[in-house]
Amino acid sequence: MKKVAVFPGSFDPITKGHESVIKRALPLFDELIVAVGQNAEKKSFFSLDQRMSWLQKVFTDIPNVKVVQYSGLTVELCRKLGANYLLRGLRTSADFEFERSIAQINKKLSPEIETIFILTAPEYASLNSSIVRDILRHGGDATQFVPDSIELNSPS
Ligand code: ADP
Repeated sequence: MKKVAVFPGSFDPITKGHESVIKRALPLFDELIVAVGQNAEKKSFFSLDQRMSWLQKVFTDIPNVKVVQYSGLTVELCRKLGANYLLRGLRTSADFEFERSIAQINKKLSPEIETIFILTAPEYASLNSSIVRDILRHGGDATQFVPDSIELNSPS
């Protein structure tokens, strides 16, 4: 059976931390689907189109990475896409506690889906999208924190 994983997130914007997790997870799966969540309660900094197009650009040369958008339950998306794995990254013990409860509830909802965690590379342990957004909000240069191929601009 084809091993398909979904990597869900906000990617607002994609950082080198996300890129690293995706690239390190690639050898484990036949296909990795990066799923950009649309959360009605969470207003994003960058538009969905902008977040999607950056992800597409970063992974354009990797044919087994796909980028989709979704709303609703992540396990429903997995079912629709025929994915049996959910991928998440772990940086801190706070991440662990948060992710553990989500993974355990998802397992109750969809026992066939296994959540796989990849530990952050040490150099990206302090990196997250909200830090990048803060830097941009205050007019700073966040280039070093995002994949080399993307050019950060003002939110659209
Ligand atoms: P969410 O809003 O769902 O947390 P994010 O876009 O912030 O979405 O993160 C998506 C996934 O990427 C999460 O599993 C998160 O833990 C992981 N991630 C984010 N930044 C890093 C990083 N620097 N190192 C490892 N994993 C990361």
